[in-house]
Amino acid sequence: MSVSRIVFTPLNYVGWGALDNLLPEVERFSPKKILVVTDPALEKIGLVQRATDPLAQRGYDVQLYTDVVPEPPLETGEKLVSFTREGKFDLIIGVGGGSAMDLAKLAAVLAAHEGKVADYLNLTGTKKVEKKGLPKILIPTTSGTGSEVTNISVLSLDTTKDVVTHDYLLADVAIVDPQLTISVPPRVTAATGIDALTHAVEAYVSVNASPTSDGLALQAIRLIARSLRKAVENGADKQARIDMSNGSYLAGLAFFNAGVAGVHALAYPLGGQFHIAHGESNAVLLPYVMGYIRKSCTKRMADILNALGGNSSFLSEEEASYRCVEELERIVRDVGIPRTLGGFNIPESALESLTKDAAQQKRLLARSPLPLSEDDIRTIYQSAFQGV
Ligand code: NAD
Repeated sequence: MSVSRIVFTPLNYVGWGALDNLLPEVERFSPKKILVVTDPALEKIGLVQRATDPLAQRGYDVQLYTDVVPEPPLETGEKLVSFTREGKFDLIIGVGGGSAMDLAKLAAVLAAHEGKVADYLNLTGTKKVEKKGLPKILIPTTSGTGSEVTNISVLSLDTTKDVVTHDYLLADVAIVDPQLTISVPPRVTAATGIDALTHAVEAYVSVNASPTSDGLALQAIRLIARSLRKAVENGADKQARIDMSNGSYLAGLAFFNAGVAGVHALAYPLGGQFHIAHGESNAVLLPYVMGYIRKSCTKRMADILNALGGNSSFLSEEEASYRCVEELERIVRDVGIPRTLGGFNIPESALESLTKDAAQQKRLLARSPLPLSEDDIRTIYQSAFQGV
């Protein structure tokens, strides 16, 4: 018998109109000065104002920080943390995709610490997170990362990515309102949706999976499989957006508790070295990594096939696991994401440095049901390059 450590965000509002709960939740914290971390595009299209206007109308002092960039580099994190320390804020609200939410939670926690963000990185840092910092409310505007319910903040380094992670990075309140995702363009809908699918699939086959994470992951896969294509085709499809918001939220809870593994370990260097969006990096690698490890988890792959809408009843586990990989590949193709590394202009000469960087991601690789050596990683990148 093994014991699972399960952690959830203390309070979550999930559903169409959930944003109405922001004002009452803010009031609970009685803040004097609020910092809202968001990205410039969301200010431009008036989305962030849907969160901030009711607060300003109630007389709260709200300051917007819009210097968030996608896949934020370490320096962006350093600047925001300095800004937060100087600003004497007492509540942080992150509104946006994973990039804005990750920076918001990082700033909320590190505002109460000394030193640089770099000191707290998982791979190379020397300091430990010791204080909870400022209260934080996270509001996703994409259906992908699940950052609103996880305890990690991801930062891009020169050649790869690293994280700051501690349970203190968990939001005090997560507000998941699918209304806020209607404006997400098709390409971002596709990439973030496959990101969420990858979270659920990797959590389900993780060596740390538990009955709790299994339930969350399978339901996430069902919702995403039935609605991702629809959300990409027609962003105004309300039911598809609701499914995708619920799917990414459940996938976030699943992977936060069970962990992600090989797909993410190999995807991080694609983001670091070639600045490929996180969801697209996961998407291009998902079928190849799952195809490589499927023999180590055929029963679980058969379950995933069923959750994807297939039927494993008359198949051997071996056959079902193979069909599962085919189905994952089909979804990635249907939503228009390139199928090979060449589709992202990654040259064959880069495979060696990608391999070296991915092999450093020991925290992620440790959760793979098939242990992945540097040679295994190299072979998977070669398959993803050749498309076989
Ligand atoms: P993102 O936050 O970088 O946003 C992508 C683009 O979508 C941006 O240009 C943004 O302006 C736009 N956008 C966002 N919401 C929109 C909306 N409603 N309407 C129109 N445009 C909108 O993308 P993401 O995939 O959500 O986040 C990626 C980041 O999250 C990466 O840095 C990744 O490493 C990280 N991540 C974190 C976790 C975690 O648990 N903390 C998990 C997975 C990924």
